[in-house]
Amino acid sequence: MSEENKVRYWARRPHNYGGVNLDRGQILREFGGFPNDAKLIDLGYLVPVMPGAKTYQCQSCGEEFAHAVSRDTHFENRHINRGFSRPINGAEERVDNDGLDDSLFVPGMPMLRQGK
Ligand SMILES: [Zn+2]
Repeated sequence: MSEENKVRYWARRPHNYGGVNLDRGQILREFGGFPNDAKLIDLGYLVPVMPGAKTYQCQSCGEEFAHAVSRDTHFENRHINRGFSRPINGAEERVDNDGLDDSLFVPGMPMLRQGK
């Protein structure tokens, strides 16, 4: 079997595979050899990576992901928040929009405040 024809899998749900804690969207470095392999695919925990599909690499640890958003979520959780912890206080939650609802911002348009 050539390297190009080797089927790879990504994790649709976070789970532990062969001692590796997979994040959502993470592509397995190694697949196969465990009793639950077929079951994990049947249950939808593991999904084949489409041949030629673009993958997204974590800039910090080098793991590959099936989607940019899952790579970004992994990066934030694993490398910025250091393991799913919440911010210590709520101070940083409101710094970016001075209290206005996000729905007031139209993408691509200048930011306008709605008058009262
Ligand atoms: Zn990473």
